[in-house]
Amino acid sequence: MKIAIIGAGAMGSLYGGYLSRTEKEVYLVDIWKEHVDEINRRGLSIQEKDGEIRVHPKAFMNPEEIGTVDLAIVFVKSFLTGIAMEKNLALLGQDTIVMSLQNGYGNIEQIAEYVRIENIIAGTTAHGASMLSPGHIRHAGSGDTLIGWVRKGDEGRINAIAGILRRAGFATEVSADVMELVWSKLIVNVGINALTALLRVKNGELLRMDETRELMRMAVLEAVEVAAAAGVKFDAEEMVRKVMEIAFATGENTSSMLQDILNNRKTEIDSINGAIVEEGRKNSIGTPVNSVLTKLVRALEKRS
Ligand code: NAD
Repeated sequence: MKIAIIGAGAMGSLYGGYLSRTEKEVYLVDIWKEHVDEINRRGLSIQEKDGEIRVHPKAFMNPEEIGTVDLAIVFVKSFLTGIAMEKNLALLGQDTIVMSLQNGYGNIEQIAEYVRIENIIAGTTAHGASMLSPGHIRHAGSGDTLIGWVRKGDEGRINAIAGILRRAGFATEVSADVMELVWSKLIVNVGINALTALLRVKNGELLRMDETRELMRMAVLEAVEVAAAAGVKFDAEEMVRKVMEIAFATGENTSSMLQDILNNRKTEIDSINGAIVEEGRKNSIGTPVNSVLTKLVRALEKRS
């Protein structure tokens, strides 16, 4: 299968790097010249807990040099999904499957402007990765990859993709209800990310203060109500418990939003808490806590 990764940063390099060990045709596409050049010169270095792995996928800045692919995996930040699709149209043929394992709400909608909805796979990943330097990433944590058709599609095709991911080392399951997965991950991020970024604390710290536990709870309850209006129903108390459990289990992690703030990068706030506000507004659901969190993180982005 001919595979392209659109956005070969931390996660795109992780997936593309491992896929290149088992698949012949894996192409990384990125707009970051130093990173692309380094991968083509010396390979991609993946720092694992027990040592370094060096792999040799081909990297490109110009998608026209690759041509159409069977599978394009999108791993740009959520606020760049639309533009990245537009810039990489050369990768997309009539039957190209586009898969998003990105965080945040709105990626599927942006991809659907360029690809038939029947050809879109969405999902979640519990892997974590960070960029160390051009051509060099750290694989920070492992977990399941869950994927599913956005609109019911060919089971054979999605099972083949799951098989390819598994062979490359990613524990992967196919889900019949991918929107529930995407919303569930979104709500976890709603409860944890903004608060850790604002307070500059690791995930676990949020559980140590009554104030932050209460804010997490309120943000999550708003998001559960907004999800229900979008047709995805969760038990509210169960979801609050789940978010607390994940904050505990990832207690020592620095959330991606806090990492972005610490590195003076734009965050994904608009597709996380901001998306709850926006979707709530469309359905006349008040989301005051998420609105305040969104505005504070936006203000923080302007300061840092
Ligand atoms: P990243 O910033 O490390 O990588 C994104 C890459 O996209 C960058 O290298 C950037 O140069 C590239 N890019 C931007 N515009 C492009 C374009 N037009 N064409 C091609 N490439 C382009 O981000 P990341 O941490 O890998 O995160 C990617 C997505 O995965 C986000 O939605 C994030 O929330 C999600 N995610 C990240 C992690 C993690 O641990 N990093 C875990 C789970 C999910």
